[in-house]
Amino acid sequence: MPLSEKHQVRAEGDIRITREVIAKLPKTDLHVHLGGSIRLETLIDLAKKDDVQLPSYTVQGLRDTVFKESYQNLEEYLKCFVHTGAVMQKAENLSRIAYELAVDNQNEGVRYVEVRFAPQRYAGDRMDLSQVLEAVNIGLTKAKREFNNREAVVSGAEPPFDYGIIVCAMRYFTKGSSGYFNEILSAHAHSQKSRVFGLASYELAGSIVKARRNKGIPVVAIDIAGREKGYPPIHHRDAYMLAQRNFLNKTVHAGEAYGPESIFQAITELGADRIGHGTSLFSTEAISDRSIKDRRRYIDDLVRFIADRRVTIEVCLTSNMQTAPELHRLEDHPFRKMMENRLSCTICTDNRTVSHTTVTDEIYKAVSVFGLSTAELKNLVAYGFKRSFFSHSYREKRKYVKQCMDYFEKVIAE
Ligand SMILES: [Zn+2]
Repeated sequence: MPLSEKHQVRAEGDIRITREVIAKLPKTDLHVHLGGSIRLETLIDLAKKDDVQLPSYTVQGLRDTVFKESYQNLEEYLKCFVHTGAVMQKAENLSRIAYELAVDNQNEGVRYVEVRFAPQRYAGDRMDLSQVLEAVNIGLTKAKREFNNREAVVSGAEPPFDYGIIVCAMRYFTKGSSGYFNEILSAHAHSQKSRVFGLASYELAGSIVKARRNKGIPVVAIDIAGREKGYPPIHHRDAYMLAQRNFLNKTVHAGEAYGPESIFQAITELGADRIGHGTSLFSTEAISDRSIKDRRRYIDDLVRFIADRRVTIEVCLTSNMQTAPELHRLEDHPFRKMMENRLSCTICTDNRTVSHTTVTDEIYKAVSVFGLSTAELKNLVAYGFKRSFFSHSYREKRKYVKQCMDYFEKVIAE
């Protein structure tokens, strides 16, 4: 059935949710990578300024060669980050990229965003970890201040914009990944690699605790990103426990390129509050752990465990379609099962530029392909605000969520 027809058979009283309506709604993006969301114009501009080699210096040329409409595999997808990473080695560049990302979000109605990046990929001779965090924060603060000075926000007619920063520890890195990683690998040349990866995460956790405490930077959570297969969450346990002891939140990229055991470990060993992707959650065939005999039961138990604890899944539809070869049609994405099992889900972009998407596009895909009702859409949007790692007091969070959801109702009514 064509998408438009699907909308027309909605239950009585349900409005037709168009892309235009979604663009006006207050929204969140809780999973967006800074390095995957640079405007291509800016990438070209910064590369020219800093003498960075690019395969093309036009937007179309970059789209044809690297930032494609679709990718053969994860490897091709990840190539984009090599190019963006090359222009993210200076503080002023990071501030500009962060500012523009916030503005792009504001321009499509996103009111709250949690921007994530791996500070250790950009640290080295020029900047230490805290300077990387500061540089990104400068850009985000500027965008927030400008937006919140608008008449509609000052008068209280519309909810303000806010943000949090999530830092990504890397599951895996090599010499050449960055100046920072080079140093840490050299200093621990005789240690097991998995220990060094864990140690790097621990350092990162320590640095964000300080940045938050001493500089008031709203670092709200820790994450682990990068190669999932062969690099289990358990290596990063000490870092996560340090974050927890300092009241930081925890999210983990899990079940994107590895089986449900990875999600299980993220929750039980690292105490994850949220899971990035979780795509393999329902795949009995993706279980590699041979000690799990009854696979069906293992999945049922895991799903119940996640649902019951309201562990939120950061769902990135387009990105998953681009990197998971087993997903042929969006209709086959486990998002449907997540909704059927009443899991707490939030729709995110992952990488705006690399995945050619926006929050509006992602929500529109969810609504049209999975036939969400207005009530289901409202729940989905509300989860984004409620399960955010909002950095102010709980009272303020409640007030903010209410203001955003009242505004949601207002837009729908109009
Ligand atoms: Zn991600």
